[in-house]
Amino acid sequence: MLDRDVLLREIGLSPIWRSREATNAATVSQTCVPHAKVESPEPLNTTQEHAPETPLFVTSASPTTESSADRAARIATLSWEALTSDIAACRACKLCETRTHTVPGVGNTSPEWMVIGEGPGEQEDKRGEPFVGRAGQLLDQMLAAAGKSRKESTYITNVVKCRPPGNRDPQTDEISACAPYLERQIALAQPKLLLALGKFAGETLLSTDATVAAMRASPGERSGVPVVVTYHPAYLLRSPREKAEAWSDLVAAKRLSESEAD
Ligand code: SF4
Repeated sequence: MLDRDVLLREIGLSPIWRSREATNAATVSQTCVPHAKVESPEPLNTTQEHAPETPLFVTSASPTTESSADRAARIATLSWEALTSDIAACRACKLCETRTHTVPGVGNTSPEWMVIGEGPGEQEDKRGEPFVGRAGQLLDQMLAAAGKSRKESTYITNVVKCRPPGNRDPQTDEISACAPYLERQIALAQPKLLLALGKFAGETLLSTDATVAAMRASPGERSGVPVVVTYHPAYLLRSPREKAEAWSDLVAAKRLSESEAD
């Protein structure tokens, strides 16, 4: 059972700082090289592959010669390893022009929860790993309070895998271009629960333009997987009074994922 005091202590009052390795087998850092062959990381678990159900988006036209439909169909067949390499070489939207590293994701590739944020920030872009700054530390504390960890029970990624310049919001065409990657990650990971952090992740997973408040109020589902929307940790850093609301979202997420396991 999730203890409210424990969680509030974890996410705000008495931080528990956990060490994190600078790299992870599920993280790849590659610079933006047009259509370059990219060295792959250590092989990942690909035993749970299956084709995705309904596309998250109809993808927009890419600057490559491959049509968006062909690209989405090709990505839908990729293994974890091939997916990571494909992201590293991707130039399907303008974010490739300004990124330092692609940020595909990190964690357990057969996770209990898949945690989905908005897009890489400055530190993430430098390191090729999602949620490594202050928001990442808060996310780790939130997950710990819910009995989850970045490396063992979750896979953490973003809606877009390259940093929007100046930490601006990702644009619709960028989200659409990157959607086949997120869709394939969900299909490969087969999590028990999708935890959407903030507006863009919620909108993408639930195919809605509802407010964060509305999405938080009624958990949805994506391809049969429960989707819980909560505040982005970066927002919680700016609005710490909302941490208690985030706690209630995590309680809902924990209940839902436990019921899925029954
Ligand atoms: S954000 Fe996604 S679609 Fe755009 S270049 Fe990066 S990996 Fe490709």
